[in-house]
Amino acid sequence: MSENIRKILHIDMDAFYASVEQRDNPELRGKPLAVGGSKERGVVAAASYEARKYGVKSAMPSSIAYRKCPQLIFVKPRFDAYKEASKQIREVFEEYTDLVEPLSLDEAYLDVTENKFDMEFAMDIATEIKQKIKDKTGLTASAGISYNKFLAKIASDYNKPDGFYVITPSMSEKFIEKLPIEKFFGVGKVTAKKMHLKGIFTGTNLKRKSEQQLTQWFGKAGKYYYNIARGIDNRVVNPNRIRKSLGAERTYEHDITTKEEMIENINLITEILVKRISNSGGAGKSLTLKVKYGDFKQITRSKTLTELLSNQQIKSIALHLLEAIPNIEKGIRLIGLQTSNFEQENKDVFLEQLEFEF
Ligand SMILES: [Mg+2]
Repeated sequence: MSENIRKILHIDMDAFYASVEQRDNPELRGKPLAVGGSKERGVVAAASYEARKYGVKSAMPSSIAYRKCPQLIFVKPRFDAYKEASKQIREVFEEYTDLVEPLSLDEAYLDVTENKFDMEFAMDIATEIKQKIKDKTGLTASAGISYNKFLAKIASDYNKPDGFYVITPSMSEKFIEKLPIEKFFGVGKVTAKKMHLKGIFTGTNLKRKSEQQLTQWFGKAGKYYYNIARGIDNRVVNPNRIRKSLGAERTYEHDITTKEEMIENINLITEILVKRISNSGGAGKSLTLKVKYGDFKQITRSKTLTELLSNQQIKSIALHLLEAIPNIEKGIRLIGLQTSNFEQENKDVFLEQLEFEF
């Protein structure tokens, strides 16, 4: 490998919340399990592999999850337990490098090009990290090893759970060409659908499109897609991201046209946001409701308090902001909620640097 090539790991715990629950309660082992709210109102925060076989996924409304898998066991989240495990894995990472960029409680990028043991092979580091995590927490992690973040993340997902996969520079081209578009990080369900309509199903298809064409279709993201189709991703592993805001949003396949649907969906997004906030150990003073219409026009409405918002305040303000959204009947394709003016109790802990996508 040339000296310019980086060694990047992406370590991702397997069904993290659900695995912690199964570890701590033997009765839950081997069973379909959802961590999250109640059947009626809540959202699935995490699903065990047994539950995933039935199509249960995180961020799915619990009522739908229950329909897919009637024997599903719902467990309330225990964030203290997850944070504890998260701290333990973070300590393992830091034995090797300080260039650790957490994406959430249970996954992080590590730049091990230079590392504290002067180990030559990133694969050896990944093997050790997986073993140490297992020893310390009793949980399994999947490791992806490559020369940039995009490929490392794809590699960690490749043979989950307990996965281990390397994408070398000589492999990457073939690997990306075969990759279904849904597997590209940053391509959500709705974008994937749009790509399908443009005849893009795999990396090969994506690579055939010009940068100009992709930008025209997907805006700023077009350039990103153009580059990753070629295995190019120069984003650095950044350990110093400080969260200023935290949000949750959803894009809908079919536009929402009634206020009742808006309320229902805002309630779901609020629940997800509230969980993320408690997960982060922080809180914000402002709440913004973002709405994108079917024609991609976007409007936002915000409210700022002098104190940090409580969960209850977030719920009521979100619905209050909805009152200021005109022309719902025109059709709404995206709803987002974001807290900003974010403050955290302890700037040291890695748990705060959360970023979620779904
Ligand atoms: Mg995970």
